[in-house]
Amino acid sequence: MPSPWPQTDPTAAQRAAYADAAVLPFWLDDLPAIDPAAALDTAIETDLCIVGGGFTGLWAALHAKHRDPGRDVAVVESHTCGYGASGRNGGFLLSSLTHGLENGLARFADEMEALERLGFDNYAGLRGDLDRYGIDCDFEETGDMSVALEPHELAWLDEGAELMRRYGHEVELLDREQMRAEVRSPTYLGGLWDRTGAAMVHPGKLARGLRDAALAAGVRLYEHTAVEDTRSAGAGVELTTAGGTVAARRVLLATSAYPPLVRSIRRYVLAVYDYALMTEPLSPAQRESIGWSRRQGLGDSGNQFHYYRLSADDRILFGGYDAVYRFGGPVDAQLDDHDATFGKLAQHFFTTFPQLEGVRFTHRWGGAIDTCSRFSVFFGTALGGRLAYATGYTGLGVAASRFGAEVALDLVDGNDTEATRLRYVRSRPVPFPPEPLRSGVVRVTQNRLAAADRREGRRGLWLRALDRAGLGFDS
Ligand SMILES: Cc1cc2nc3c(=O)[nH]c(=O)nc-3n(C[C@H](O)[C@H](O)[C@H](O)COP(=O)(O)OP(=O)(O)OC[C@H]3O[C@@H](n4cnc5c(N)ncnc54)[C@H](O)[C@@H]3O)c2cc1C
Repeated sequence: MPSPWPQTDPTAAQRAAYADAAVLPFWLDDLPAIDPAAALDTAIETDLCIVGGGFTGLWAALHAKHRDPGRDVAVVESHTCGYGASGRNGGFLLSSLTHGLENGLARFADEMEALERLGFDNYAGLRGDLDRYGIDCDFEETGDMSVALEPHELAWLDEGAELMRRYGHEVELLDREQMRAEVRSPTYLGGLWDRTGAAMVHPGKLARGLRDAALAAGVRLYEHTAVEDTRSAGAGVELTTAGGTVAARRVLLATSAYPPLVRSIRRYVLAVYDYALMTEPLSPAQRESIGWSRRQGLGDSGNQFHYYRLSADDRILFGGYDAVYRFGGPVDAQLDDHDATFGKLAQHFFTTFPQLEGVRFTHRWGGAIDTCSRFSVFFGTALGGRLAYATGYTGLGVAASRFGAEVALDLVDGNDTEATRLRYVRSRPVPFPPEPLRSGVVRVTQNRLAAADRREGRRGLWLRALDRAGLGFDS
């Protein structure tokens, strides 16, 4: 049985469904408007300067204050908090720190027990923080469901279930009928429901809640302020912006897929664009027609996969499949619109839910994913240990960014913890080659991944060689 995705161009009706959609992340558009924090326009001094106001930077700011309320902390953000990946993602809050068990075992088998435990602790700690700081982000503990669309994927679900149970997850395998009773799509052949450490959130509300909490804790925030340079100065670091400078005792870089401010990150991270569509709120009849009463996060199982979920007001977010890498890895608002991908997403949406014919999309957007070859956050220090960074979440950073922030804080503070001793924290991914080779490698790899999807998942010579070299490509 072939993949359910049509090999034809999207129809005029499928294209029309998103033609009027705003090119804007729904999650940010859904927030009450506020005045941004003032930009930096003078020279300041601080104990800790955090560059980047996404989840990593905001968790770091909040926890730095929590650990030591007397410490002066400044966050410098080039746009507004949550403008980057943190305000654009699917909102799948998953406990894994390793982009799933299989990837973790392939790279950190000896540390997997610890990494799973730390991931669960981080997930529980995050829930506790939501309560402690009064952050309402539409948290729904629905679990996460992988669906099989082709027969060979059923065996992957079996293996996945076995592995998850081994690591203490509560999982349920569903056959074709059970899966379709849960969510009504003619594309489904089976499903695997992971009920442990898996929730859906409104990522815009989470970022806004973290921003509010950081401000309430006394963090100084400068928005619309891009850091242009960082360099050692005396016993600290000087950061340069267009309007002013920051003299910081310590610096934490949380700039994700954006052009890195320290050279050493460049070899390891590339910016891959991922795109999503958001529907209008479904009518009660449309809602009824798809089932999905338990509101799980859904993802299909191919190398090129979609992720989709319901929002609190019963819209469907449908994203993924294409991972778009452009020469040099630019990150720019102009890249938020990408018709070729939106056409495909609309076509695949109506293939998944033909009963929703006529539904319109209100928002379409793209976002840059900080992709690294090990598919999970990595860490480092620079400028003689006065600067630390956490980046490379590769599309699974909503929960892991809280852990990344804590570890980066420990590194910049020189703390010795269970986490900082792990090879997971101390080692780096296999670097990507420089351009123009980088684009070539990504293109061939994407081509071979798509080919594997067409050949019942069988990985050819190229992918097997990359697997052996520890060099993966994923969004
Ligand atoms: C479309 C999409 C879907 C995703 N879906 C999921 C999902 O469902 N589940 C999941 O777990 N993960 C998902 N992710 C990944 C997740 O969103 C990220 O891993 C996470 O948000 C990373 O947070 P961050 O703070 O490290 O990066 P970001 O949120 O990108 O924050 C970096 C910030 O740094 C700022 N910045 C950059 N350079 C500078 C500079 N020089 N000076 C000042 N500020 C600067 C940027 O403006 C930005 O606000 C998705 C990502 C995308 C793009």
